[in-house]
Amino acid sequence: MRIDVVTIFPEYLAPLDVSLVGKARAKGLLDVRLHQLRDQAHDVHRTVDDTPYGGGPGMVMKPEPWAAALDAVAPPDAGPPPRLIVPTPSGRPFTQQLAVELAAEPWLVFAPARYEGIDRRVIDEAGTRMRVDEVSIGDYVLAGGEVAVLVIVEAVARLLPGVLGNAESARDDSFAPGAMANLLEGPVYTKPAVWRDREVPSVLLSGNHGAIARWRRDQALRRTAQNRPDLLERLTPEDVDKHDRATLAALGWTERDGRFSSDGPPVAH
Ligand code: SAM
Repeated sequence: MRIDVVTIFPEYLAPLDVSLVGKARAKGLLDVRLHQLRDQAHDVHRTVDDTPYGGGPGMVMKPEPWAAALDAVAPPDAGPPPRLIVPTPSGRPFTQQLAVELAAEPWLVFAPARYEGIDRRVIDEAGTRMRVDEVSIGDYVLAGGEVAVLVIVEAVARLLPGVLGNAESARDDSFAPGAMANLLEGPVYTKPAVWRDREVPSVLLSGNHGAIARWRRDQALRRTAQNRPDLLERLTPEDVDKHDRATLAALGWTERDGRFSSDGPPVAH
């Protein structure tokens, strides 16, 4: 996969050299190219921002440098265009499902902004020649989009074939499409079996794979009820088996007309 990032702070993307993403780059699975937006600003101060039309506080990123930068990265009429990702708190939420979708793309271009964002015409014009997704990584406001790029690239990169040591591990993750789509993963344990008088749940030492899978599923349901009841409300009858129903009922969640809702006491901590 090729990834281009246009930014006024290329150095902010240094973590892309580290750990899983860094290794994916070293292995040639990920081709990351960073571009300095100011290289496309030709006045003496290499200005990329100006005051907002309509007044108000803050500055807005100018259209000319952004358009020139995007044209340089993906020249119009030069083969299949990339998918453009514009981080913004006013975008659609970034989810595991979107990460899976983006991991299937051959080429992503990121346009992280600073100040109050990019002149709208840049996004509208780019949308006439490539798919554009405005994406938010959460309901809070960062100073710039570079952190959002790091978040999205890491979530996407670990889904690329050959990046994770054990591809199976992504299958059981919280939010993983399929059985875990609306569930959080439960707790995990490693050796020693007893640590500071705390024992690992005995089922995990039993060697009984069916019982272990059931326990893990129950823990996922329990943790989701505790921390993200909004996810349980999205479960459909097809997502659950009869054991899940029994666990949900014990947690105070029952199905009515195809939707699960909580009618019991809150889950004990
Ligand atoms: N005035 C803008 C608003 O309220 O929507 C916020 C601009 S913010 C200070 C500057 C830049 O940081 C944004 O243009 C975007 O690139 C990035 N950013 C901030 N919060 C973000 C979030 N939750 N998700 C993705 N990008 C974000």
